[in-house]
Amino acid sequence: MTTFRAARGTRDLLPTETPRWSALERLADDLATRYGYRRIETPMLEQTAVFERGVGEVTDIVEKELFRIAPRSEDGESWSLRPEPTAGIVRAYVQHGMQTWPQPVKLAMTGPMFRYDRPQAGRYRQFWQFDIEAIGDAGPAIDAEIIELGTRFYAEAGLTGVEVLVNSIGDPACRPAYIAELTGWYRERGTRLPPFELERLARNPLRLLDSKDPAMVALNADAPRITDRLCDDCAQHFATVQEHLHVLGVPFRLEPGLVRGLDYYTRTAFEFYIAGREGQQQALGGGGRYDGLVELLGGRPTPGIGFGIGLDRLLIALDEQGAKPAAAIAPVAVVVGADPDDTVGRLRIATELRATGIPARAELGRRKLGKQLEAAARDQAHFAIILGDELTSGDVQVRDLQAGTQKLVPVAGLAREIARAHAAHRHGLAEQGAAGAARGPDPA
Ligand code: AMP
Repeated sequence: MTTFRAARGTRDLLPTETPRWSALERLADDLATRYGYRRIETPMLEQTAVFERGVGEVTDIVEKELFRIAPRSEDGESWSLRPEPTAGIVRAYVQHGMQTWPQPVKLAMTGPMFRYDRPQAGRYRQFWQFDIEAIGDAGPAIDAEIIELGTRFYAEAGLTGVEVLVNSIGDPACRPAYIAELTGWYRERGTRLPPFELERLARNPLRLLDSKDPAMVALNADAPRITDRLCDDCAQHFATVQEHLHVLGVPFRLEPGLVRGLDYYTRTAFEFYIAGREGQQQALGGGGRYDGLVELLGGRPTPGIGFGIGLDRLLIALDEQGAKPAAAIAPVAVVVGADPDDTVGRLRIATELRATGIPARAELGRRKLGKQLEAAARDQAHFAIILGDELTSGDVQVRDLQAGTQKLVPVAGLAREIARAHAAHRHGLAEQGAAGAARGPDPA
């Protein structure tokens, strides 16, 4: 028999893991809202040309890692799964005329991305990103605001030791001369370049700067720096970003080798790492300004900036720091009964409880009451609702599984009673927690 498995580099998120994902997604939503970003969803596939243009044909993402979908004869178009969110979001900005909306248009998205990369720890073929884009603001204040938002996301997720690396990679006024100088500089040292880097030099010389090859790292220490060759406007912009970061209390480190892999970036570029792990291609997230992208994708020239934060790597980093696993979700009530065959009675009561908003499960197996109660306790339910002879007079037994008490409750008032007792119990727990935290003498 064939045994099927998830595709290489992809994985299932099991119910034991999804509570932590949901918590991160909620945090992303909450932060986006707090900072005035509104949710957008774009399709997981786009015309390949959106990525070829929007990301750049001479990038690893497009050259090697694009998940291309085999063209179908009827439409003859080439489609690919999105390797990153920005190009698709900017395509949507142009398509829906968002340049006529009040600017900047601030958009947030959380979802899966796809790269046909060699799978290894922290590198998957399907991974998740929390993405923020502000389109229509040339900065520099919003650059700092977005970097601060990124650091806040990590802090509120509970991750410590995150470091921000920032750089400016210039703009069309100053970058071409810098690239020409850098190319000449590398050519003079051609014999010291590994063959792969020599080949990239002709196509995308900036990429050599963030090479992790030890020979390149040594060479790059002396390479001409873009930050020494910025035009006045770019230099002023970069200085103001840094001033804002200082005032917001966001620690950062200048990293002249940080160029990011995408063609559309201009000026501010940044990445988030766990301090001390910058060398391992383990960026937790990154982003930057892309003032040329809207025009590249057919819109009017419009500046933009954003980031993509990887959720997979964030969870790995949280695990490494010993984060507590999220608590399993327990039903408040489990409806059990003395007559194993009365599934209708149990299901009816559970349905009524759920209709009022109470998380409830009915025992639908036809096993003995003792086994049903054991299962309810294993579920860590707060109450077992026991249907027995009292049902003829309209009552049920409600057993508080945590307190070990039991009482008769009329079915008519059951939902109200469960909601009240459960709320009182939670309130009591919260008060105990608060009293414990205060560590003062008992006021009573
Ligand atoms: P990038 O667009 O390459 O800068 O990616 C932004 C973030 O997405 C990275 O910092 C990672 O956290 C995450 N990421 C990128 N590629 C992968 C991958 N193959 N597997 C897991 N996470 C990834």
